[in-house]
This record gives sequence, structure tokens and C-alpha cells, in this order.
Amino acid sequence: LPFAAEASARAVVDLVAVRDNVRTLGGYASGAAVMAVVKADGYGHGMLPVARAALAGGATWLGTAVPAEALALRAGGVTPDHARVLTWLCAPGAPFERLVAAQVDVGVAAPWALDEVVAAARAAGRPARVHLKVDTGLGRNGITPADLPDVVRRAAALEAAGDVRVVGVMSHLACADEPGHPSIALQARAFDDAVSTVEAAGLAPEVRHLANSAAVLTDPRLHYDLVRPGISVYGHSPAPELGAPGDFGLRGAMTLQARLVTVKDVPAGHGVSYGHRYTTTQDTRLGVVPLGYADGIQRHASGGELGVGGPVGVGRGSAARVLRVAGRVCMDQFVLDLGPAATERPGDVVTLFGESDGVARGALVPNATDWAQAAGTISYEIVTGIGSRVPRVHV
Ligand code: PLP
Repeated sequence: LPFAAEASARAVVDLVAVRDNVRTLGGYASGAAVMAVVKADGYGHGMLPVARAALAGGATWLGTAVPAEALALRAGGVTPDHARVLTWLCAPGAPFERLVAAQVDVGVAAPWALDEVVAAARAAGRPARVHLKVDTGLGRNGITPADLPDVVRRAAALEAAGDVRVVGVMSHLACADEPGHPSIALQARAFDDAVSTVEAAGLAPEVRHLANSAAVLTDPRLHYDLVRPGISVYGHSPAPELGAPGDFGLRGAMTLQARLVTVKDVPAGHGVSYGHRYTTTQDTRLGVVPLGYADGIQRHASGGELGVGGPVGVGRGSAARVLRVAGRVCMDQFVLDLGPAATERPGDVVTLFGESDGVARGALVPNATDWAQAAGTISYEIVTGIGSRVPRVHV
């Protein structure tokens, strides 16, 4: 795919990979429906194109965190006929009336939310579709087991009155990426208890859902009626310890590339970038990459005295190699020590990450997990952090 002449960097998003990944995830959870999680601008990939690709791959639901994301899906043409849309992170004063009118399902994660949702339903003149979001042990957002009976009692009365429809019961796992962690079974049991509480009140939710990517990929007992994969939709492993993307039949959807803006000779002993935390050890060539922390290239991925440095695939054919960031990542740029024999020229394309099982497995193209390891974080933070200055090119 030729680089646009005016672009110094780009994130190519392979929508066929997104579609295929969703299809693969549907195969893991064959008894369940798939909600593709497209929050945070589709994990940085572009929410609307990703949503359409996920639906083409068999997803029938789309999951978002905040209401603006869900409303943007509807405004972008994802109608209720195309997909159910759920938003689960609502603050007091959230635009519940607009959500109800747009036929967006709402996660009720605290007692106050039921009151606001009901008021909105009455104003909108149609029942609100709600999912009771229960804290089964994550210790984050969700109705506590202590509050649940009262919320359920009120929800049952409101459903009888036609103000709400309790469509789902949901929860979220704390340690799904550590199979066998005792909290998983405890949360599953607490989830079953919560569903029993809901059903005992005469409610008949259509979908029970608990599984994130790690649970989809590792434990069918956690799939219930609907699964909510996020990171795996984009072709990344939820945790390196679980395996590489290829082990799960997934492939990375985003390829982050830049064109070298400078290639130049410097002598041995030359300090590189702010603080001179990298010093050349021989006469060599430096290449400057026009991406920096303002673009989501984490400063923690600086290299030299500062650590191993984020990996970059450079060169083609027999010249293909993985180099590490030399010295500090700056706001807009970082430096590679290309080596004395380097043949790269200004304008040549380097690849920060792409479809790959990772450099630990000998790949000459790094993946987002490689960057995460260099930066001391997780692939999620790498892909969601790619800045808006980097054009997304959907293919
Ligand atoms: N469900 C909920 C409630 C979430 O908050 C998230 C993301 O954090 C997901 C599912 C998707 O998780 P993952 O990206 O690990 O698959």
C-alpha cells in the first residue's frame, strides 16, 4: 500500500483482519452471541469502520463504555436492525433520554442509575433496555451484591409498569488473563447467584454476559449467552503469558509505520536525544522517526541507558532487522541507530508494529505486545494511545 506522499506516519487498519478475528472469536464461543467491544475509538482503530467489520464477522452486539460512543454508533448509521448497542459507563446526568430514544441498551451499575434511566424512559415514551451490571468481585463499577436485591425488586416493578425491560445481567472479571486464578470461579458463582436473584423476581433477561477476550479464549464455562471480546477483536493476545495472537488464530489489525525524516552519519561517542542517555559506540548512521509521545509512542519505551527501547522493523529482504529506540522518545520523534552499513534513506518506511507473533518468536515485524513490554505496559494501552495526529488508513 503506497504511503500518501504528504504523510510522515500512518496506522493502516486491516478491516478484513477485524472481520476474521470476530469470526474466529465466534468459533470459540459457538453457543453465545458476540458483542464486539468498540469503545475508545475501536481501541484506537476507528470505531465506525471497525464496528461495521465486526458486524460483517458475525457480531450482533457492539459494546461501548461511555454514552457518547454509543450515540456516535447510532449517528454513524448503525441502526437497531444492524446491531444492539450497549453502553455501560454512565455518570449521573448522562443523556439517558437520548440513549433510550436511540434504542441503546444501558448498563445500570449503581442504584441511582435506575432512577435516572426510568425518568428518561418516561420522557422518551418507550421502555429503557437495561443490563444490570453486577460487581461480582472486580471491585470496580457495578451493583454490589448487597444492593442487588433492592435494585432487582425495583426493576421488576418498573418492568411490570412498562418503564424498563431488563434485557441483560452482566459482570466483568478481574483475573481472566490468569486461568485458574481462584477469583474466576468465585466471580462465576457470584454471577450465577446474581442471575438467580434476578430470575427469582420474575425477570427473564435475554442475555447473561461475563467474558472478556481472555475468558472467551480460555474458558467456555464463562461464555454464557453473550461474550464481550475487545483486544482480541483487534488481533492482540489479552496477555503474553496466554500465547501469541497466532496461537489463537488472531492477527493484528493495525500496522503503525513512519517514514525516516533524516539519515545521517555521526562519529563514535555521539550522544543521542535529550539527556544523552544513548551514546554511539562506533561511527554510525542515525535515522530519525517522526513519531513521539504525542502520538502515543510511550516515553517509557526509550532505549539505551533507559531500557531495551521500543522495537522497530527496518529494511527489507536480507537487510530486514529489528532495531531499538536509541535514547529518549521525544514529543514528536525518536532516533534509531541504523548502524554503519545502513542503506536506508530519508523517506524509507519503518514499521513499529503490525500483524505479527512478536520479536520474541523471531518476527522481523514487532507487535503491540513487544511495545508494551518495552514500555512496561499492556498492548491495550499501546493501541488505544496512538494519537489523533496519526492518520488511520482503513483497508
Ligand atoms: N467488557 C467490559 C465491561 C470491559 O470494560 C471491557 C474492556 O475493558 C471488555 C469487556 C473487553 O475486554 P478485553 O479487551 O480484555 O477483551
